[in-house]
Amino acid sequence: MPRDLASAEALLRDVFGFESFRPGQGEIVDAVTQGRDVLAIMPTGGGKSLCFQLPALVRPGLTVVISPLIALMRDQVRALREAGVAAGALTSGNTQDETDAVFDALHSGDLKLLYLAPERLASGGTARLLAEAGVSLIAVDEAHCVSQWGHDFRPDYLRIGALRRDLDVPVAAFTATADEETREEIVARLFGGGTPDVFLRGFDRPNIHLAFSPKDNPRKQILGFADARRGQPGIVYCGTRAKTETLAQALSQDGHVALAYHGGMDPERRRDVEARFAVEDGLIVVATVAFGMGVDKPDIRWVAHADLPKSIEAYYQEIGRSGRDGGPAETLTLYGPDDIRLRRSQIDEGLAPPERRIADHGRLNALLGLAEAQGCRRRVLLGYFGESPAADCGHCDLCDAPPETFDGTEAVRKALSAALRTGEN
Ligand code: ADP
Ligand code: MG
Repeated sequence: MPRDLASAEALLRDVFGFESFRPGQGEIVDAVTQGRDVLAIMPTGGGKSLCFQLPALVRPGLTVVISPLIALMRDQVRALREAGVAAGALTSGNTQDETDAVFDALHSGDLKLLYLAPERLASGGTARLLAEAGVSLIAVDEAHCVSQWGHDFRPDYLRIGALRRDLDVPVAAFTATADEETREEIVARLFGGGTPDVFLRGFDRPNIHLAFSPKDNPRKQILGFADARRGQPGIVYCGTRAKTETLAQALSQDGHVALAYHGGMDPERRRDVEARFAVEDGLIVVATVAFGMGVDKPDIRWVAHADLPKSIEAYYQEIGRSGRDGGPAETLTLYGPDDIRLRRSQIDEGLAPPERRIADHGRLNALLGLAEAQGCRRRVLLGYFGESPAADCGHCDLCDAPPETFDGTEAVRKALSAALRTGEN
């Protein structure tokens, strides 16, 4: 894991009180922290604020945040202060005392985040103030407000381009509006002809086919899934190191090129597997969760889970490694009562404090809910991340074959429900 991301994760926990990044956040935080120009499109509720607030703490000096709504700014400033972060706002809603306090903090160099109403940019005083304040990043929230054709157009947003030129610092722009035209307009108006790194991560990855299956004969199930995708690069995730070795062996005996990968292997060997996976056609890596960060092969065609992941976030992240090129990708996640017991005991026997354990059980329960879903899985998955798709996806096992045909899973379902109830205590 890059050092930056490791310290980012510490801040995520210690300052913001979150256990893990939401999908997409980690990469954006990393890019913004490194001072790259960034345009990030994330769904509403996806956690965009964190993507500039956290980098602001890592970067030197001051981050200026342009935001269109006074209420929004005040909320964020209050939350940041409660978390112990030096933040302030300059808006028309300020009292004189508040404004004085912000100026004092600016002059003493204590402030990390300054929220600015865009109208403020019209004044020469603001420009001088910022020129002297040691600004190292401009964050633009609700960046679509710069689009003249959008319904949220705010003329003062057009001043941000000049601010960026004057200060000569990176810009990180955020919006939930994903249409192509708006994006082009944002890039043209905010980045002065430069090309930002664009992160377009709604939570939906429509090219990934979703499927779950109760464990019946897991080795046979995995071998069958791999056999149907012979010659295509894939990952098999396993719950234990030992299983990565035995499954890799079984796949090799079946004529695949399959390599085990886990945290117990020496670093050189691990790097070797990573390098081969990147360049060789059709390699299968059979891995624990240790295989992940830094795997950016775009054309992984399939991901199978030989064991249930530990949470819905982990599941999403792991299947999300497939099909990054937008091409077809297929996934299969096996689950059974033993997995659930194992995951529960891992949570209970871990050293995490009680509140964290409760949250971990919740994330596991959410995954079980997905495994046991009776209708479109993508609806359940996206629903967990706050999206509500207009229609069933037509691209998961339950859309392919309606649940009535799955009578055989009733016994497993009962066992799962029992295990689910146990975990609620
Ligand atoms: P957006 O600006 O994308 O609409 P926000 O930044 O307002 O989203 O975040 C939405 C909610 O998600 C907030 O309540 C925030 O505290 C929460 N949130 C953000 N990141 C995380 C995370 N990594 N883990 C848990 N909750 C998060
Ligand atoms: Mg927001």
